[in-house]
Amino acid sequence: MLYLVRENLFIGNINAAAEVLLNGSEGITHILSVLSSASISFFSEWKSSFSVPTKEIRTVYMGDSDSNENSEGDVSDKTALSSKKILYVLENAGKDLNLVRMAVPLRDMESENLLDSLEVCLDFIDESRKKGSVLVHCFAGVSRSAAIITAYLMRTERLSLEDALESLRQSNESVCPNDGFLEQLSMFEDMGFKVDHSTTIYKRFHLKVLGDSYNRGEKIDTTKFAADPGLSKKEVTIGTGTPSQKEVIPIPIPTPTPASAFRCKKCRRVVALEENVVSHVPGEGESSFEWHRRRSDNYFNKYDELECTSIFVEPLRWMKTVEEGALEGKLWCSHCEGRLGYFNWSGIQCSCGSWITPAFQLHRSRVDISTL
Ligand SMILES: [Zn+2]
Ligand SMILES: [Zn+2]
Repeated sequence: MLYLVRENLFIGNINAAAEVLLNGSEGITHILSVLSSASISFFSEWKSSFSVPTKEIRTVYMGDSDSNENSEGDVSDKTALSSKKILYVLENAGKDLNLVRMAVPLRDMESENLLDSLEVCLDFIDESRKKGSVLVHCFAGVSRSAAIITAYLMRTERLSLEDALESLRQSNESVCPNDGFLEQLSMFEDMGFKVDHSTTIYKRFHLKVLGDSYNRGEKIDTTKFAADPGLSKKEVTIGTGTPSQKEVIPIPIPTPTPASAFRCKKCRRVVALEENVVSHVPGEGESSFEWHRRRSDNYFNKYDELECTSIFVEPLRWMKTVEEGALEGKLWCSHCEGRLGYFNWSGIQCSCGSWITPAFQLHRSRVDISTL
């Protein structure tokens, strides 16, 4: 079944998508497939008689889109590329290859990271509707595709999560995104209908994703972490290949506006920037981990007034001890090897009483604040 949501926008299940792919459709020119695999072969696993030609346009991996921030040093690292997760595959598909299909691998699980795939999906829907009509489908047409279309209505019509979902239910009353997706859509609303990596909401979400990944026993390497603010954006690499042969020359980052930074008290190396801080509400205990409606945080400005003896930051590339895989450990300055703090995947309680989970903590007594 295929349901019209808005002009040139349909929602459906795998049957509806298979029908369009096999036999074409008068209106539909674009398909957004949100299945556990991006490959068209998923359809033939589902129905063995299914066979449709495809021609790849491009494959984009997670992290490729924010290469300015997070991927320096990765370019020459082929092993890093092979372990990368696919963000999307774009291809021509159908009997005459006249359909454009974007496939985004996503499982219908509460812990699945919807936010990091959301904006490419919404942009694809936008573009597709300008050129023709788009069908957004998942397996049942109930959770994943519904979550994406709900976000689309939120963004384009500035609707609250509740109103967008209600509006979608008028097209198909059986839509029901899973609870984890609903929670992420609520964050999307709080971030102002975009996935804003600079917000506390996103930083906490990203920490939780990393924590889940650690708990599943996946290897955590620092390429998943935020850039080291003590190094210039252009990392200078000497030698070839393996990380141990790389020699990194730290250069202070030139910055147009004076930004605040935390420096190692002993050697003055920059260890974190204001933007790396994951703020918490002092003294709120476990409750502070519910996603607060805090659109901006002035944590850094209020820093001197706070009773907290710790600063919690997002994980940063210099935190090499984290790569050893332990549940907890010390954080050492990468320049003078002085002790700066502690990390613990199962959380640390701040002196104010709040729990931060997972936690990457810098002791206030070991760092100074200064402008860059
Ligand atoms: Zn605190
Ligand atoms: Zn130091």
